[in-house]
Amino acid sequence: MNILITGGAGFIGSHLCGRFLERGDSVICADNFITGSKDNVKEFLTNSRFRLIEHDISTPLYIEEKLDWVFHFASLASPKFYLGYPIKTLKSGLLGAHNCLGIAKAHHAKLFLASTSEIYGDPLVHPQTEEYWGNVNTIGPRSCYDESKRGAEAFVYAYHREHELNVRVVRIFNTYGPFMAVDDGRVVSNFVVQALKKQDLAIYGKGEQTRSFCYVDDLVRGILRMMEVDYQLPLNLGNPVEFKVIELARLVLKLLKSRSQIKYFPIPEDDPKQRKPDITKAKTLLDWQPSIPLEEGLVKTIEYFKSKIKS
Ligand code: UDP
Repeated sequence: MNILITGGAGFIGSHLCGRFLERGDSVICADNFITGSKDNVKEFLTNSRFRLIEHDISTPLYIEEKLDWVFHFASLASPKFYLGYPIKTLKSGLLGAHNCLGIAKAHHAKLFLASTSEIYGDPLVHPQTEEYWGNVNTIGPRSCYDESKRGAEAFVYAYHREHELNVRVVRIFNTYGPFMAVDDGRVVSNFVVQALKKQDLAIYGKGEQTRSFCYVDDLVRGILRMMEVDYQLPLNLGNPVEFKVIELARLVLKLLKSRSQIKYFPIPEDDPKQRKPDITKAKTLLDWQPSIPLEEGLVKTIEYFKSKIKS
């Protein structure tokens, strides 16, 4: 396969580059390095089947060699970054999707959109099934991200209907693991980095809000399965085991035998109170479910951050 991955130097994108190269595919990784990092892909640079292009996918990109698959992962996916760069977030989500769709159409390639559980907003249906339309504040601080991904889904299905483009849409729930940036700002990396630096763990709100954390290897396995099956509607991928943020903090402290304290800060506006995927469809259609429990995934993640913080 000849594969283009936008955001290929990002957290999930770099894992995908690695998996495809392992399988013998050729990978073009396009990234503008706003949140992605050259470090994440440096081990691939000597591979003749890997090409790195510095490019902002909110502007058009022309690829000469014939592509089979186009993955749109470029995104400022952490609240810390999308709240700081709302316009870039909208552009990579919407214009980036449009450009990727144009590329996929020109190459008669299969288009994969990395969508998100954020399209469900602060959900009133729990757990979230793919049929739920969501509860998003269209003008709130998170709307730049949520609406860009909702708009990207709309773009994908417009191309699917109008041009019969072969599409895959996965709604990714909270994912963690090696190659997250130290300054990513999301809860797992923040807690691990804070504990490693012997700082207090900062909980936003009371820590009663829930998330369901999926280890990145499980997610990547699901994405690969999704490309193999003929299913063109959106699909949830995530770990359905739900934790309160306070429980995650205590688990990180336990695993690191840390004496850091927990400190409480105001809850950000529109922070979803609960989140947990219904993965019935993924189980049935992909024969997929996560196999790595949070504690095991955290141990691997902690090892990664230890190496990053030392170097
Ligand atoms: N959170 C927290 N401390 C942090 C980072 C996040 O308590 O240092 C909370 C955040 O308010 C949210 C949850 O943890 O309720 C997950 O946040 P994250 O930024 O990981 O992603 P989200 O799921 O909100 O997109």
